[in-house]
Order: sequence, then structure tokens, then C-alpha cells
Amino acid sequence: MDSVPELLSFAAHVFEKHGGMAEQDDNHVMALLPPGLAQTLDLPEEVQLGGGAMPLLYGSPVLDRLIRVATEEIPLVFGRIEVPYLKKAGFEQLIGQDIVFTNGQARVTSRAEARASYMVLTCRYVALSDERKEGLVEAGMHESTGAIIEDLETLWSEFSSEIYTPGKVPPHFPVHLEKAISNAMQKARVLTEEKLTDFINSMRRRLRRDVKNTREYYEALRKEMESSLSRHNLSEAQHQERIAKIKDLPREMAQKIEDLQQKYKIQVRLKPCAALRFLVDVVYVMVEIRFRKYTRTIHLIWNPLSRRLDPLVCEQCHKTTRSVHPSIEDSRIRLLCHSCA
Ligand SMILES: [Zn+2]
Repeated sequence: MDSVPELLSFAAHVFEKHGGMAEQDDNHVMALLPPGLAQTLDLPEEVQLGGGAMPLLYGSPVLDRLIRVATEEIPLVFGRIEVPYLKKAGFEQLIGQDIVFTNGQARVTSRAEARASYMVLTCRYVALSDERKEGLVEAGMHESTGAIIEDLETLWSEFSSEIYTPGKVPPHFPVHLEKAISNAMQKARVLTEEKLTDFINSMRRRLRRDVKNTREYYEALRKEMESSLSRHNLSEAQHQERIAKIKDLPREMAQKIEDLQQKYKIQVRLKPCAALRFLVDVVYVMVEIRFRKYTRTIHLIWNPLSRRLDPLVCEQCHKTTRSVHPSIEDSRIRLLCHSCA
């Protein structure tokens, strides 16, 4: 499997920021790491990621370790969102609407008020090509599961909030956030691609235009040089020299086109740069799932910010999903996304 290019530049950035040297190519990163960093990342001091060596993909353990190192330096703000109202009843109707369990039966057994923590992660993207474009994207998620919560980045500000002063942060926030941040970065990558659509199209248009101009230029040059061959004042040596030059034109043109492709190649770097973490009072909705002869009880979260049930994450690939496919593994119900099922 090929490594994700954005993740390779993310890795290169983490290496360099922590005293390593990194060189990124199309499909891999070569790096020399200081011993301490190599140990933290559980990598050799001289390492290649991608390009036939260790691939760098969403969900891979090496990415988790890179994220852990990178997020140690992200400025964090902790707070609490005050919600005026928590839903008391009628959760049954939300099953099949907010979350669908295909082929399985789901029954609400009880509810309880609880506290959940969410994060809005801000990532900076930089796209490098013939021009440079940069900006910010935000993705929100439930911290312990890593489920991406649509529009959380705008919803939270509609409520009143309290920011905890450093040293007074309550101990409700989970420590391990690698999966959540990995999911958020994946979401940020999709958002970045959307934001860069015009930029990417414009670079492609310019490349097509320049390639077309180059072809026309060389075609005109060839014609001109060919017609000059018939002039009588050329010595035999000059004549041979021109023929050789004409023969070399296709190679020269291919080289020019290759240079243009390099010039307009787009490299996108994405890195997390700030995080807002907050506690929210939510409702845990206990649900008993029956599938074949098995049952399993899980809790869903009714989120007062979005006023709906939060999505779940696939228990295999960690992708956020509202369409849950129960399957049996080791006499136990596992909840999977559509593609894993
Ligand atoms: Zn899945």
C-alpha cells in the first residue's frame, strides 16, 4: 500500500522539529533521527518511511507515535460548555434516524446523564506549487472514541462556555488521543482538499497551457530549422550540425515538459496547530443490540450541541459511521462500518 503524501510531509516536519534531518521524495521520506527521538518513535536512527519500506498510513502504529510527539507541542485550551437542556425521553425514535443498525435489532434500555469530552482540532495546511496557498481547517471529534462530530467546530460557540485556567483543569479529559487526532487529521485532509480545489484546478490549467505552448514552440522551431536546411550558403558541417539539432528537438521538448510538471506539482503539508478541548453534559443512552443469537449492550451519546446522537466509530477501521453493521467475531457482536462489513 502506498503511503499518504500528506502524512509523509507531516512525518518529515515532526523529524525536523525534533532535531532530525529529513528528505522527502514523491513516495517516501528518508531521515536521520537523534537517538532519543528514534527511541520515542520506536524507529531506527536511519529510517525510510514509504516507498517499499515501512508504509505510513492512517491507523498505523508509527503514525500514532508521530502524533503523540507532535501533539505534545500543540497549544491546548480546556473548557466546559454549558448546555441549557438535556433530552429526557424519546430516544427510541432516534435509532433508525441518527444511527442505523442494519440487520440487527436495537432497543433502548435506560438513560443516564454523564459528561463527555470533545475536541476541536485546528490544522494548518500549506500547498506548495508554482504558487503557495495556506489556510486553516477545523475538525471536531468525541475524544474517547475519535468519532468525527459534524459541525462541532461551529456549534460549540453558540453556547456559553467557561475556560479553565491552567492548573485547574479537571481530570475528566482522556490522556490518549492518538486515534482521535488521527481521525481528525483525516477529516482535516478532506476539508483541505475541498479548500484547495480551485488552487489545484488553476495549477492544472496553467500546466496544460504551458505544455501546449511548449509543444507549439518546438513545432514552429522544427519547421523553421527544416526550411533553413535548404539554404545554399550552409557548409556540409553546418548542415550536419543542424540535422543533429533537429533530431534532438523531441528530447529537449520532453525535458522542458518534465520541468513544467515539476514546477506545477502540488505538495500539501498539513499539521495540527491548536486544540480546544471541552467537557459537555450529555445523555448516555444504553442500547441492547441483538444480532442472530447474540446480544451486546453499548451506550450511545445524545449530544446537546448537535441535538442528535453522536455517530459511532467502526471497531475495525475507526472510521466514523452512522450506519452500523453488526457482525459476529469470537461469539461476540462487533460493530463495523459499511466497507468493513
Ligand atoms: Zn470500518
